[in-house]
Amino acid sequence: MRCPGSTPGLATQDIHTRRGGKRDEELILPINSSLSVTLHQDQLKTTTTAVISKDFTEDRIWLNGREEDIGQPRIQACLREIRRLARKRRSGDEEDLLPLSLNYKVHIASVNNFPTAAGLASSASGYACLAYALAQVYGVKSDLSEVARRGSGSACRSLYGGFVEWQMGEQADGKDSVARQVAPESHWPELRVLILVVSAEKKLTGSTVGMQTSVETSPLLRFRAEAVVPARMAEMIRYVKERNFQGFGQLTMKDSNQFHATCLDTFPPISYLNDTSRHIIHLVHRFNAHHGQTKVAYTFDAGPNAVIFTLDDTVAEFVAAVRHSFPPESNGDKFLKGLPVKPAPLSDELKAALGMDPTPGGIKYIIATQVGPGPQILDHPHAHLLGPDGLPKPTV
Ligand code: ADP
Repeated sequence: MRCPGSTPGLATQDIHTRRGGKRDEELILPINSSLSVTLHQDQLKTTTTAVISKDFTEDRIWLNGREEDIGQPRIQACLREIRRLARKRRSGDEEDLLPLSLNYKVHIASVNNFPTAAGLASSASGYACLAYALAQVYGVKSDLSEVARRGSGSACRSLYGGFVEWQMGEQADGKDSVARQVAPESHWPELRVLILVVSAEKKLTGSTVGMQTSVETSPLLRFRAEAVVPARMAEMIRYVKERNFQGFGQLTMKDSNQFHATCLDTFPPISYLNDTSRHIIHLVHRFNAHHGQTKVAYTFDAGPNAVIFTLDDTVAEFVAAVRHSFPPESNGDKFLKGLPVKPAPLSDELKAALGMDPTPGGIKYIIATQVGPGPQILDHPHAHLLGPDGLPKPTV
């Protein structure tokens, strides 16, 4: 099973709140709706294998080759939810299902081909893939938004491909807090995404803890969720549908900036951006000012790494500007990963307009990608991460 990474287009910082009362303790419900762009699995992906067997004595999970604690509440919530759905389906009128036992234990192995827990949304990709793989194993055919959401809120947006909205919903039980596709992967073929990896290190403030503190202490966040995001969601969906890059790019940047303003408004404050992130912000604005229009846009999630949106005709020049401003230290040939980008000359006028002292090594590498599809089933046995004994294959 392969699942895509996803990246925020708007308001993607999923602020989860646990609504009071015991019944709701496990629900991950956002305080605002959000929209994300599904990244292409040819460049960023999670691969997950799940197997059930009467021979297994306990549920187990391996992540990136290392066994993890299966007792983690979010993994448990996903397992419980998928088994509940499987039970419901079988107690319905579909008795022709395979006679698999819901009491069998499950083994799960998963790998991300990009840094885990570094602010590149591995949790979204990982839990979407987990939900999808478990649904295959347990024969669940219903919508998986809720299963994925129980793992990581943003994971519900990684199940459909293309441009996806997570509607916050109104019901206390969260049943209407679901994701839906706004436009398919093929909708905007010229759109490109560049991930500027500033740090692949594990982040200091986990997103969930950080967001919880923001919800509790930031009045700006409350204002943003109630008064700003609803109108922006409608506006953003319109820009996507119209393929209006000017509108899409500007709103994406404004929304990223406002999210990071709420981080500063949190008490004690949270800062996900670092000096390099701020340099990237200046670079983008100067690049756009030089061209007299919004040709590139940035958004930052809960980490210092930038996600850049642009169109295919601008990629080469912008990458040249990044190389100029952040000369690669030692990995010149490995600086650019993913989609090929032709070398482009940088005019003296643009160099002068960027007007920044170069910061060697500020950006570790760039991943060039585009909009991609939702989860894919990998039929080939070679692709499976677990061997016939139910343990990770040695290469994993
Ligand atoms: P990120 O910015 O990468 O989403 P988080 O700290 O929010 O960082 O989430 C990382 C956590 O998500 C991991 O510690 C792990 O618990 C979970 N996770 C990441 N990848 C996977 C995966 N492939 N399968 C299951 N869980 C995963």
